[in-house]
Amino acid sequence: MRFTDTHTHLLSFLKNSTLTAVLLRAKDLGVHRLITIGTSQEDWGLYQQLATEASSTIQYTVGLHPCYVEEGWEASVERLEGFFKQNNQAKPFGLGEIGLDGFHLPEQADLAAQVLARQGEAFEAQLALAKRLDVPVVVHSRGQFDACLAAIDKSGINPARIVFHCFVEGVSAMQALIDRGIWASFTGVITYKNADNVREALSLLGPDRLMIETDAPYLTPTPHRGKPNEPAYLVHTAQACAQVLKIPLSVFSEKTEKAVATFWGL
Ligand SMILES: [Zn+2]
Repeated sequence: MRFTDTHTHLLSFLKNSTLTAVLLRAKDLGVHRLITIGTSQEDWGLYQQLATEASSTIQYTVGLHPCYVEEGWEASVERLEGFFKQNNQAKPFGLGEIGLDGFHLPEQADLAAQVLARQGEAFEAQLALAKRLDVPVVVHSRGQFDACLAAIDKSGINPARIVFHCFVEGVSAMQALIDRGIWASFTGVITYKNADNVREALSLLGPDRLMIETDAPYLTPTPHRGKPNEPAYLVHTAQACAQVLKIPLSVFSEKTEKAVATFWGL
């Protein structure tokens, strides 16, 4: 059985020199392809290099994560297009992760509003770029589902190009994605005891238009909670999803691999 970790961050493994071992453990468990997701200028170039060296296993995206949107963000966003135009290096698979994060805001209300407004401007600018380039978009939404959806609707972007990564909302949010033809991707959260709302949303979506991811090194699935997450643990998320959907793991593998090929244009 084969799986694709559609959203991982390999930077920490690069930094602590564990990447080779981590990739081997993933491969042993059938995780044959990884998409390492850009968050800021710190990782874009490294991921481009990794994808250029290991193009059959590792793909990458570039994008300015909402938590890295600081004053002067425009200069970072201006650099993004260049990655899609280079001919002697691996091109990004898409733009992301981009979006809105309501969890890491300053306590003071007016400062929080300022930060959120700046995130919104950077999100809008990057959606416009993705629309122009016509590439897949990875959306990060924490506590800002409706605002993210409104920005996407306003952008006029093709909804079939968009995935909400780490979907942790309930059935009504899922229905809003289904109505638009937007994709959803599930993390280890699906294995958590208190995630009934996410499992209900997965049941509503069904097995044909979903992707899975680790978001490593974050969101470690049960039974490895407490340890840093890594791509090999994707298997636990796959098993939990197959169980919710009441289908054999082999069928789940086939269906998600097909979804990955459709969404990412493989
Ligand atoms: Zn992420």
